[in-house]
Amino acid sequence: MLSIACPWCGPRDETEFKFGVEATVRRPDPDSADDRAWAGYLYERHNRRGRQQELWCHAGGCGQWFLVERDTVSHEIFRTGVLPGHPSAEGRELAAAPVDRPRPAGEQG
Ligand SMILES: [Zn+2]
Repeated sequence: MLSIACPWCGPRDETEFKFGVEATVRRPDPDSADDRAWAGYLYERHNRRGRQQELWCHAGGCGQWFLVERDTVSHEIFRTGVLPGHPSAEGRELAAAPVDRPRPAGEQG
């Protein structure tokens, strides 16, 4: 079972969280974007193998969106943090999160 460190609530079970999107996805400018730009925004993802930044929501807790830097293969979480520009972002750098790897079935922890 993974533990994800919400910047506001601290470490919680992964079942309290919802994955949102890769953090590199940017909304096009509504005044100048064409159909291709909107299609890319809605449907195209890098689906990287390895380390990437993502947006997650603490849906079963405080409801805040935040950044998670994790490995998409091993599911290791390197850091979590407040979104840049968020009112509470000042003084909250991406914090080191506890690393908690999934255990093989049947292994006791
Ligand atoms: Zn939270």
